[in-house]
Amino acid sequence: MRVLVTGGAGFLGSHLCDRLLKDGHEVVCLDNFFTGRRLNIAHLAGNPNFEFVRHDIIDPFKFEVDQIYNLACPASPPHYQYNPIKTIKTSVLGSINCLGLAKRLKARVFQASTSEVYGDPQVHPQPESYWGNVNPIGKRSCYDEGKRCAETLFFDYHRENKVDIRVVRIFNTYGPRMHEADGRVVSNFIVQALRGDDITIYGDGMQTRSFCYVDDLIEGFVRFMAQDKTVGPMNLGNPAEFTMLELAELTLKLVGGKSKIVHKPLPSDDPKQRRPDISLAKKVLKWEPTVPLKDGLKRTIAYFKTRV
Ligand code: NAD
Ligand code: UDP
Repeated sequence: MRVLVTGGAGFLGSHLCDRLLKDGHEVVCLDNFFTGRRLNIAHLAGNPNFEFVRHDIIDPFKFEVDQIYNLACPASPPHYQYNPIKTIKTSVLGSINCLGLAKRLKARVFQASTSEVYGDPQVHPQPESYWGNVNPIGKRSCYDEGKRCAETLFFDYHRENKVDIRVVRIFNTYGPRMHEADGRVVSNFIVQALRGDDITIYGDGMQTRSFCYVDDLIEGFVRFMAQDKTVGPMNLGNPAEFTMLELAELTLKLVGGKSKIVHKPLPSDDPKQRRPDISLAKKVLKWEPTVPLKDGLKRTIAYFKTRV
């Protein structure tokens, strides 16, 4: 197949491009390099099955492809809050452009949605049936509500125009090719530990997240796109839940060095807890994560050692 990957020069997108090429597909990678970078796809430059197009997803585009994966959107809080209106346009107009193309081509289209649609969840762990607890006017809303609106668009195109959609809700995922300055917690802690800087825990560090290694997630994407039983939404993530204090301590132990843990103010609307209920993915995809946090962190640390 010929597959379009929007956001293909980003952290997840570049791993997805690798996987699709390995599976024998042709890949068209679209990206505007807002948070992604050439380095992530440099190794694919000479591959005759790989094509890069620099383009902003909010402007319409046309390609002849069989499948579309829509990943274009900044994912780290400091980056999606840098220009919140642009973030909303990316989710909403970007989705409309992908869905319009999918409708014309009768192509299956995948949306990278997020656990942020659950906001600061009052149901724990979060099943797909939970409607969430999202502040519509806060600093995270440009991302949360943009992604929620994108889900609405996907399901309306599906109901109204029979577009063949697949919607995945991704929980915190980490691994090689995250940007050193990404700002998300795993890359921040590793980079800080490697540089001997203070490890910055926001708030008391008792908030929780569940961290999935990138290879596990990409396997889930591919299995989800290949099946016909459900269009989603489907949670994909690792249900092993950690406090940020535990993550900081584990990172320090694995990296070694002399960094101290310091506490900084907690950003507004920071979810207190997050853990996916992955029963649906287990049942339909026969999928569950295989890489424990400690192993995934070791692989990610090895990558960052080449970068900092
Ligand atoms: P990332 O920031 O590394 O990748 C996003 C990519 O999209 C970048 O290459 C960026 O340049 C590109 N992009 C942004 N705006 C664009 C635009 N207007 N036009 C074209 N390209 C644009 O982040 P990531 O972690 O790889 O996330 C990929 C997708 O997965 C995002 O949609 C994100 O919301 C979603 N997601 C990721 C996680 C996670 O933990 N990694 C969790 C939930 C959802
Ligand atoms: N966090 C932290 N120190 C950092 C970066 C993030 O303590 O240097 C916290 C953040 O407040 C949140 C958690 O780690 O509670 C996960 O943050 P991230 O930005 O990685 O993802 P998200 O909040 O979107 O799940």
